[in-house]
Amino acid sequence: MSDLLERYGRVAGEEVIDQLRQLAIPLKGLKVVHLNSTKEGGGVAEILHKLVPLMERLGLDVSWEVITGKPDFYQCTKGFHNALQGQQVSISDRLLKVYEDTNAQTAEELRSKLQDADVVFVHDPQPAPLLHFIEKRTGKWIWRCHIDLSRPYRPIWRYLKGWVTPYDASIFSLPAFARTLPHPQYLILPSIDPLAEKNVDLPKKEIKSVLDEYDLDPGRPIITQVSRFDRFKDPVGVIEAYRIAKKAIPLQLVLAGGGASDDPEGAAVLEEVERAADGDRDIHILELPADAHRTINALQRCSDIVIQKSTKEGFGLTVTEALWKRKPVVGGDTGGIRLQVINHYTGFLVRTPEGAALRIRYLLHDRRRLNEMGVRAHRFVRENFLLTRHLKEYLAVMLSAIIGKDDDRIEVWKWK
Ligand code: UDP
Repeated sequence: MSDLLERYGRVAGEEVIDQLRQLAIPLKGLKVVHLNSTKEGGGVAEILHKLVPLMERLGLDVSWEVITGKPDFYQCTKGFHNALQGQQVSISDRLLKVYEDTNAQTAEELRSKLQDADVVFVHDPQPAPLLHFIEKRTGKWIWRCHIDLSRPYRPIWRYLKGWVTPYDASIFSLPAFARTLPHPQYLILPSIDPLAEKNVDLPKKEIKSVLDEYDLDPGRPIITQVSRFDRFKDPVGVIEAYRIAKKAIPLQLVLAGGGASDDPEGAAVLEEVERAADGDRDIHILELPADAHRTINALQRCSDIVIQKSTKEGFGLTVTEALWKRKPVVGGDTGGIRLQVINHYTGFLVRTPEGAALRIRYLLHDRRRLNEMGVRAHRFVRENFLLTRHLKEYLAVMLSAIIGKDDDRIEVWKWK
């Protein structure tokens, strides 16, 4: 197997890898620790599985540790998660004590490693108090928050803020998530991994077999929205848009989602969607398993246009995934979609089903424009939303974190 960096270079561009190598020169041998609460499942683990080996290939001395606890610990941290995303949750003093004790114990186990580390990234609230228990630390500690903190439940955020305040810096995923904290805050937007099953190029044969499997006709335009069945994703609005556009064009609509069966609200939304589809054989409502990455990849690739008509959206990775596959996106004019759908350039921002239908018809009538937008969409993601950019920003944060330190590696960097 060829070198990991070279594989990324082939998709992201050699110059991107050169840049990473340059940035990493003053960081060679830097002792970096990432700390989170799981190695499997969830977005944080997924991203660390990619970032840690890439940092190692760049010459950093990286380790990844996890904090684990008894069921009470997770009950408490799940409560934090919900509260930080806006739910009114009350957490008992007993659970808070379990949380603090678990952190104290983990600090004990990892003490020498954490004391010696040059940079420690602590991900999310689970291990946030660790810093408090490492008295003689020498490195810089950075709290990396992956959660939507735009409207936290105040009492819980006040409690957690006490643990986060002593950090040297924090990182948030979107500007709206940043909080008032007495240290530098960095913004690192999400990214997609171009080498993941969800995003790699697929053989034509595989795409064709997905078309066959779901009874889609390659001879007629296909528009697709991939999303959990959630009202904020406005699947019923997508059906309305499809109906309006269909008056002029023989369209097919794919609504692909998953996880509805174990989510009571998801099941209710799915029912609403089925009612709205009203037996239309050209509306394909697909409930896919959580690991159907290649199927989603194929569905995005066989579509003419991808829709993401959300009325609220944190970032919208489905938009990034579609743009990467050279599909213009007709997206709701909200949240992170606005950072990706550059109106008239990588797609169209819309507010109503009528608006979405108008843009769908326009693009399907002007194939040249559609293709041009697709090419620009791919380039836009390549420049802004790939894992390599994510890594570059982590390196930049580390550089700026250690610049204040008495570190002769920085001298080398300054003089080169
Ligand atoms: N996704 C999936 N299966 C589904 C629906 C969505 O794998 O049935 C994936 C989708 O491809 C994307 C992620 O889940 O990678 C959804 O992320 P996004 O930021 O778009 O929305 P969220 O669900 O986090 O609100």
